Amino acid sequence: MLSARTFRRLRILILLSILFVVGLNSWLSSVRSHSWQRSVWVVLYPINADGRTDTQQYIDALDKPHFEEIEQFLQREAKNYSSLEQPVTEVFLADSVQSEPPEVPTQAGILESVIWSLSMRWWSWNNDSWQGPEPDVRIYLRYFSPNNRDVLEHSLGLQKGMIGLVNGFASIDYNAKNNFVIVHELLHTLGASDKYDPLTNEPVFPEGYADPQQQPLLPQTRAEVMGGRVKVSPGWILMPLSLDDVVVGPETAAEIGWRD
Ligand SMILES: [Zn+2]
Repeated sequence: MLSARTFRRLRILILLSILFVVGLNSWLSSVRSHSWQRSVWVVLYPINADGRTDTQQYIDALDKPHFEEIEQFLQREAKNYSSLEQPVTEVFLADSVQSEPPEVPTQAGILESVIWSLSMRWWSWNNDSWQGPEPDVRIYLRYFSPNNRDVLEHSLGLQKGMIGLVNGFASIDYNAKNNFVIVHELLHTLGASDKYDPLTNEPVFPEGYADPQQQPLLPQTRAEVMGGRVKVSPGWILMPLSLDDVVVGPETAAEIGWRD
């Protein structure tokens, strides 16, 4: 039997460990916020997530032009907010990573999320296939063959954690949609918050709308990047087809430091 005193000490020790882990996590998250004095260097790391040959063929054919619209989108949107020195972001493509990132906990509490975020950083340090200069943000692209499944798990970006995890289909037909998801998770890593209701996926009014002043309000034709969907009519929301139909709204712009 543990004495009451030992038990109390044990409890304090556990609480202190939790505090340490949470503190370490927020320290790691906050020290690298971007000031936009220079461009954000983003490195994309493809991963063959289902081990299939067709997925690998798609990954082997990936090249920088597949991702150029990410840079172009952020360039275009940044102009609405400030006279930032060009370019805003530079996107690089690393060799594919031969290891799977730590599994994302489903229904995670705060502690599980923090532990996952720390193990994700640890995994990322140990699986760096990038030969160039130190990136600001690392985004892991887990590709799945569209011939094998039709639903993907949620992608996510560690808020201010400078690491994103994107699940995408290994097909050129999905390239534009994948780029939209990459931008959404990238902006999370730079401090942006979601602007949609997680239960319904409906964008939150007004900040999750691309054109909240429009009269009449519906149909919207574009999506706010963190709102994530185009609200067409009551009960009808659509994923944007490409970044051409997406904007960075003022609230997101403030969160990532493009405006006060
Ligand atoms: Zn999100």
